[in-house]
Amino acid sequence: MTTLNDHIAIVTGAGAGIGKAIAHRLAMDGAKVIVHDINEAAAVAVAANITAAGGEAKAFAGDVSNPDDVEATFAFCEATYGECSLLVNNAGIVQQVWFKDMTLADWDRMISIHLRGCFLNSHRAIKPMLRNKRGVIVNLASQLGQIGGIELVHYTAAKAGIIGMTKALAREVSASGVRVNAVAPGPINTELVMALSDDWRAAKSKELPLGRFGEPEDVAAAVAFLASDDAKLFVGQTLGPNSGDVML
Ligand code: NAD
Repeated sequence: MTTLNDHIAIVTGAGAGIGKAIAHRLAMDGAKVIVHDINEAAAVAVAANITAAGGEAKAFAGDVSNPDDVEATFAFCEATYGECSLLVNNAGIVQQVWFKDMTLADWDRMISIHLRGCFLNSHRAIKPMLRNKRGVIVNLASQLGQIGGIELVHYTAAKAGIIGMTKALAREVSASGVRVNAVAPGPINTELVMALSDDWRAAKSKELPLGRFGEPEDVAAAVAFLASDDAKLFVGQTLGPNSGDVML
């Protein structure tokens, strides 16, 4: 597949899990990819794997919630491959805590990495995209942003915010050649889900019409579709590779 061979992509949080699968898939579809992660060793390993598989990728380390790191990531992309035409806001964390026990620091950290991170990276990406009249932004939300998750009020709020941001930004920029969409996965087998309790995972599996969690590659396929020209009519949408957890 070479459907993305005119694209220069930045995938945040691509050192593991879903982001790793997205970076690999976009590179195999022809994009040049900046594998971004706060964990430098993980990003370097993913970029090396992509290169070994015949794709084009370079690693860059940084924190999505830090404006200086975001600027450095985009500057590295521009110096290495050119201006970013495809941004995937994927980096994320999870923390299970009852709302009554949640601290302001818990709340701020969750909102900062997910929502502030999405803002900072999209804001840095958007001006070149508008100037070039071409760009794609795909935001990783979650099905919990649509239905809510117990002990995950801050995570749910951040993900619902990302869905709202996706719609509002899409309304502003789509006529200028920039498409903005979101993917809201259900439970996917990654370290993030393994950090949730055994009870949570067992209960969630039983609730799913499909009866099982997804794999990172299932989400990467949805992102690759939204990135491609096949998705030209998809604007401000939230796709749901979620094992049937949410049906809209
Ligand atoms: P993961 O924990 O496997 O990987 C997340 C990656 O993000 C890690 O490599 C981590 O180092 C990186 N990261 C964390 N904080 C960062 C920061 N501040 N700056 C840069 N990188 C940072 O998680 P995952 O399951 O692959 O999740 C990826 C995205 O998908 C997240 O946004 C998550 O909320 C979302 N999501 C996951 C699931 C799921 O079931 N796994 C479901 C719905 C949505």
